[in-house]
Amino acid sequence: KAGGLATLITFIFKCCNSVFSLSRHQVLRIVPKDEVQRSQLKNLEEMMESELDFWREVTRVSTPVDVRVPSHALQFVKDFLGNQNIEYSVMIQDLQCVNVRLNVGLVSVIQLYSFQDMLVAENPNLVSKLVIGSSYEGRPLNVLKFSTGGTNRPAIWIDTGIHSREWVTQASGTWFAKKIVKDYGSDPALTDILNNMDIFLETVTNPDGYDYTQNSNRMWRKTRKPNPGSSCVGVDPNRNWDSGFGEPGASSNPCSETYRGPSAHSESEVKAIVDFVVAHKNIKAFVTIHSYSQMLLYPFGYTSAPSKDEAELHSLAQKAITDLASLYGTRYTYGSIIDTIYQASGNTVDWTYEQGIKYSYTFELRDTGFHGFLLPAKQIVPTAEETWLALMAIMSHTFKNPY
Ligand SMILES: [Zn+2]
Repeated sequence: KAGGLATLITFIFKCCNSVFSLSRHQVLRIVPKDEVQRSQLKNLEEMMESELDFWREVTRVSTPVDVRVPSHALQFVKDFLGNQNIEYSVMIQDLQCVNVRLNVGLVSVIQLYSFQDMLVAENPNLVSKLVIGSSYEGRPLNVLKFSTGGTNRPAIWIDTGIHSREWVTQASGTWFAKKIVKDYGSDPALTDILNNMDIFLETVTNPDGYDYTQNSNRMWRKTRKPNPGSSCVGVDPNRNWDSGFGEPGASSNPCSETYRGPSAHSESEVKAIVDFVVAHKNIKAFVTIHSYSQMLLYPFGYTSAPSKDEAELHSLAQKAITDLASLYGTRYTYGSIIDTIYQASGNTVDWTYEQGIKYSYTFELRDTGFHGFLLPAKQIVPTAEETWLALMAIMSHTFKNPY
């Protein structure tokens, strides 16, 4: 039964037999108080690009930086910060403990995919499954299509989990799928949308990475394709798109968490979406969902030039985060990617926007760093519920403002 969602999000608390141990890894929160400290942190980031894992990158003065430091590098990093008089706090004392206690549990790709199949089987007149390609390791790239008929109707795209360690996103995407089925025919706004438009939902956008986070390394972000000439694996699928590709705001180092890849669309997980969007030609809103930071972002990331729709994108973002906050008071910031977080080239929504999809948005879901990627399971449903309100704001606006 698709009531199996409850089972699916009944989380198994067990310690994974990780070949990659997070034991004594710490997450430090560092706040640069002036420009000198900011640039020293930038140096640290560059110097230890393949050692440190920046959960929140260095941006501007007074903006917190969160970094996971492996046990062997802790003394060095703390000495570095101490010598420069840079203040920091230990946000997570021992990542392995948190990982065991609080993790948004273990749910395999197979479980997520069989949930999709159940939903299709139980709602054949509303839901179908498309396979738009396959991952590097050969897993199908499944997209759920919610449609009440017509041909090539204007459409809304939503994806979750392109960064595999952002587990609250795949869980939320799964919740959205169930929510759409439940609300069609009872919620007038969604019913109106689905009587005129299609919704495409890819909940496990990076299945190889997701599988790896479940079985080997909870902190895996990238794809799993080996890089020739390097022992480091994977490409950042949110730096791999053909928009500002190779410009500042991505790394050329295969060991970096923001490695852009050898060429634009080199990752099959990205290329599958590119081919789908180009062939469809009628996608009107594109929403890609990440965590964490509580932000709603629109293009551009690779350039500080405002997009021509900036005013509309800005006011719609404001409406969406206001609706989101109405449920539990969760506060989001919003704006263009480059102004709100940092320069990020080759990112998803810059590309979709340049393809003519005006309503292109990136979410960063809960939280603001207290748990970071290791959000407790009890926050999944509230996160999904509040995010849904923001999605409805974006979808309704798209429906009411055809272009
Ligand atoms: Zn992400």
